[in-house]
Amino acid sequence: MHHRPVDGHFDVRLVPVVRALGAVLATAVVLLAACAHAPTPRAAMPVLNTDVYAIRYGTLRNFPVASLVAGADTARRMDVALTFWLIKRSDGTIVLADAGFYRDKFMTRWTPADYRKPSDAVRALGLTPGDITDIIVSHVHWDHMDGVDLFPKARIWIQRAEYAHHIGDLGRPIDRAVDSLDAAMLFGLDRAGRVRLVDGDAQEIMSGVTVYTGGKHTFASQYVGVRTAGSTIVLASDNAYLYENLAKRTPIAQTLDAESNLRAQDRMGVLATTLRLIVPGHDPDVFVRFPLPGNGIARIQ
Ligand SMILES: [Zn+2]
Repeated sequence: MHHRPVDGHFDVRLVPVVRALGAVLATAVVLLAACAHAPTPRAAMPVLNTDVYAIRYGTLRNFPVASLVAGADTARRMDVALTFWLIKRSDGTIVLADAGFYRDKFMTRWTPADYRKPSDAVRALGLTPGDITDIIVSHVHWDHMDGVDLFPKARIWIQRAEYAHHIGDLGRPIDRAVDSLDAAMLFGLDRAGRVRLVDGDAQEIMSGVTVYTGGKHTFASQYVGVRTAGSTIVLASDNAYLYENLAKRTPIAQTLDAESNLRAQDRMGVLATTLRLIVPGHDPDVFVRFPLPGNGIARIQ
């Protein structure tokens, strides 16, 4: 059975006119879209001079790679870097992404090599702990959040859903992803008015610094996009443990949702100016790829 064309009554002599009108309309739409996306605020307010560093504060020796890269050979072991990140901006704000750990129970249990306390590690950049204005907590794990109270003036930025999922009444831990000492510590900082709860994905918490969810390393783990004068850098934290996750497009071994984690890793590739500007959470190779200034400090550029 054949269907008659539904536009059987359409006058074909009008086709060129309609086409011309269509072209005019399309042009108008493009122009409107261009106006809507014109970067007027950004043009008026130049991007801050921003330097981004990875800071290595220790090493966990012989760590099983299968705990980092889903499906990896269980015989593989590597020395993983314990890292946090520092964003130094020309408006005077100095932002950490994560803050390492220092409490005795973690030192005893994990016996890190080459360890320096995170509050001492920032001194390598000529900074004191009191200089840190903000800390973005990517997730509640001990090796990322335990050190936040080493920085007495910092505001703490964490996803509202991450906080609510882990920290209960009076700072009681309500998910085993968070250590009880760290839950109590964060609760105390919140009581002191120092915690800023972030509502979800793609939130520009300060100009040029945007946090993203979906990595699903923990309930509402987040990663950070940093716009510098020349590029956008993505600090993945544990949402991508190693370069191997990114290069082989393999989810992290510890995720609540492997598909969501892969989507987040793909998105990091879109957000970052180049793939080399995605900084994974525990890869010692960061300090090889970005060797300067050295001594456990890598300037990402
Ligand atoms: Zn973690």
